[in-house]
Amino acid sequence: MQAEKTDRLLIHNIGLLLSGDIKEPLLAADSILCANGVIESIGKKSELSTHNVHTVVDAKGCAVAPGLIDSHVHPAAGDWTPRQSQLNWIDSSLHGGVTAMISAGEVHLPGRPKDIVGLKAMAIASQRWFENFRPSGVKVIAGAPIIEQGMEEEDFRQLAEAGVTLLGEVGLGSVKAAAEAKQMVSWARKYGIQSTIHTGGPSIPGSGLIDKDVVLEADADVIGHINGGHTALPDDQIVCLCEQCKNAIEIVHNGNERSGLLALRTAKELGELHRVILGTDGPAGSGVQPLGILRMVALLSSLGDVPAETAFCFATGNTARIRKLNNGIVECGRAADLVIMDKAQHSAGSDLLNSVQLGDLPGIGMTIIDGVIRSHRSRNTPPATRLPELTSVS
Ligand SMILES: [Zn+2]
Repeated sequence: MQAEKTDRLLIHNIGLLLSGDIKEPLLAADSILCANGVIESIGKKSELSTHNVHTVVDAKGCAVAPGLIDSHVHPAAGDWTPRQSQLNWIDSSLHGGVTAMISAGEVHLPGRPKDIVGLKAMAIASQRWFENFRPSGVKVIAGAPIIEQGMEEEDFRQLAEAGVTLLGEVGLGSVKAAAEAKQMVSWARKYGIQSTIHTGGPSIPGSGLIDKDVVLEADADVIGHINGGHTALPDDQIVCLCEQCKNAIEIVHNGNERSGLLALRTAKELGELHRVILGTDGPAGSGVQPLGILRMVALLSSLGDVPAETAFCFATGNTARIRKLNNGIVECGRAADLVIMDKAQHSAGSDLLNSVQLGDLPGIGMTIIDGVIRSHRSRNTPPATRLPELTSVS
């Protein structure tokens, strides 16, 4: 009983509940009860069994959404990135509402091994150290090897057996030819390892061009940064990628915004907005963007003419479904990873959703990971109009 008591958290007075599920982005409920790190029940406060609740958060009418998932990051070790000689970039992203990140390859680690034994060892080590240590509570799913020429099926089997679930961006290593990439992607898939391919021109010195023909033939699960690492493919190739395969369409902050909007509009015309997921591609040449995912939600909603509640699904439920994660949707039994936010002070919008549709960022008041409060008022977003209040801890 004691264990149960210490693990229960109630959020009530929720003014707006975003589900993260693109099929039903808004839920009619004002309270969420979390127990043992997962969402136990959702509904009206009077309907929930609130005995033994030890932490109560009064949302004060703010919106609650699933914690944002950054589908494309390049972590190194702990909360440090050598790319920008920067500490605490993951903690800064938590203050932008991001509660989970997915590695597209630990490419920035100084001296990264490129021989096959070395790259496998590093992928396994990366998977382990982020599993064992969550910076500021943020879930970093890492251990994404950059595939190199000469890898064989047995290498992928070994990686999967050792707990590796992702490939780093195909194309960042020596495998750039379509047929070779296709073979390795299919070996990875056979052993349950998900793949992402770099799309577009070189993002930094050392990476290369991957055009639509390579992307289509390689058939990776995620069309990584379809809007390029700043240098995007020509428009007709982006449209073709959206139309000719069914894989995830990943739009990143550190990419070409105009091309990102083109990909969004194409997915919308196809009736396939469920394929759209968001990343920052940070840390990158252009830096770390703690508010990058929020900025993408506001950009795509305002200029892409998508309701804000749908745009939030790109950064939550869509990513969770495609990446097979147990967070990202406000649903009983899923991880209690949540963000509490409100319209920013002095936004011209009438409410949170309207303010995002006008292109403004919301103010974040609290983040929760696995049912544990991880941050209070964001130090990075504009101040929220209302803030949640911790009303009782017993
Ligand atoms: Zn890339």
